[in-house]
Amino acid sequence: MGDKQKIISAIESKAGLFTGLSDQIWNFAETRFCLRQSADALSAVLKDEGFTVERGVAGMAHAFVASFGSGAPVIGILGEYDALPGLSQEAGNAEKKALREGAAGHGCGHHLLGAGALAGAVGIKDYMKETGLGGTVKFFGCPAEEAGSGKAFMARAGLFNGIDGILTWHPMTETGIFSMSSLANYQVYFGFKGVAAHAAAAPHYGRSALDAAELMNVGVNYLREHVIQEARIHYAYIDVGGKAPNVVQPTAELLYYIRAPKTSQAREIYERIIDIAKGAALMTGTVMNMRWDSYCAEYLVNDVLGRAMHTNVLALGPNQYTAEELAFAQKFGDTLSEPVRKGIAANVAAYFGDDPQRVAEIAAKPIIDDIMPYVMSGRAIPGSTDVGDASWHAPTAQLIGACFPTGMVAHSWQMVACGCSAIAHKGMIQAGKVIAMTALDMLENPDLLARAKVEHSHRLAGETYHCPFPPEHTPEE
Ligand SMILES: [Zn+2]
Repeated sequence: MGDKQKIISAIESKAGLFTGLSDQIWNFAETRFCLRQSADALSAVLKDEGFTVERGVAGMAHAFVASFGSGAPVIGILGEYDALPGLSQEAGNAEKKALREGAAGHGCGHHLLGAGALAGAVGIKDYMKETGLGGTVKFFGCPAEEAGSGKAFMARAGLFNGIDGILTWHPMTETGIFSMSSLANYQVYFGFKGVAAHAAAAPHYGRSALDAAELMNVGVNYLREHVIQEARIHYAYIDVGGKAPNVVQPTAELLYYIRAPKTSQAREIYERIIDIAKGAALMTGTVMNMRWDSYCAEYLVNDVLGRAMHTNVLALGPNQYTAEELAFAQKFGDTLSEPVRKGIAANVAAYFGDDPQRVAEIAAKPIIDDIMPYVMSGRAIPGSTDVGDASWHAPTAQLIGACFPTGMVAHSWQMVACGCSAIAHKGMIQAGKVIAMTALDMLENPDLLARAKVEHSHRLAGETYHCPFPPEHTPEE
């Protein structure tokens, strides 16, 4: 591995710093754009490590860019640190018990994501400092991945322009390369304004905004048959107009997520949904108002960078676990519901191929220590990420790293409980190493980046990134 051993040793020598940082962010458990303590903690370490930190970028107080080095190429490393509402859970407790009742919790491992990506940035920085290798490393502190799509605002502000290649990762239950696309996602509020009236004595004076919202949803539910199969449309009631049945509801609001494999497909469905909303307003004599929440572009994979990253994963080899760590994983595996347990084999088959004996072998492990084969499936996961918005600007590779016991479901209390475990820490340090090693490949090998860029422009197929929300739209806390 030659010089890469230097990177590995540099990251290992600071492992305590990175795991401490991750545990700290786990404990802060801040959500959406309200990430002051988490952004402070990450920025402080980056400053100490010699990065120049620009805080409050793209109109978000807790977004930042930390830079080291100068000149080309410019490597971007993406870090997230937002938690999920209502998921507070005691660390290490295999019974559901909130740490702080009603508070948020890190149910998607973004505390590990941020600190692990930072470990990668520090690892490559230490190497550049020692060897005098040129180029720039930019760590992007990205708020609101779970809801709000901070990276869409960063992309709109042009922060990803001029980046030559982007690296990131996500904690999961497997280790390998994320080589699938994700769904584009339009996140839009539809509000209705009507007229309040006594619902029994004078209903003829009333115009029900709640009726409009319900008719809109009925219309959209009929639309489902006539959109592409891969589309996903969901809604939530944000405002139901009050709690009194005897008042005609004068206001109502819905939040819609409209997803499809391509932005162009999501946009087409979104436009049809606007017509349905207008129809609902017309039917009820109410007024419809739309406002943006956010947007995610579909993730553009990059085979060239993905393969380079995979080579580094293989060079490091799988993590080894102690008997104690395996017992910890098993204890949490035992908490999974029957349907979740039954779904493990199908998941393993999706990632590792469908040889039944191998699938059974892997699925039976308390934590998966195998490395996924590298496959470009061409499929999109039925979910969205704002890493997509970054990926339109430069070739992007994304690692997934086993940090959680086999079968564990994202956004669950179990995932919060395991977030500060030795298993999670091992996966995070491993991810930091892979990111730094791949960054070194990109800095030292201009041909790799050139090939990655050719592929990237083919995947763009002549399109450029366009953020659909208007310039005056600002992130909502
Ligand atoms: Zn996540």
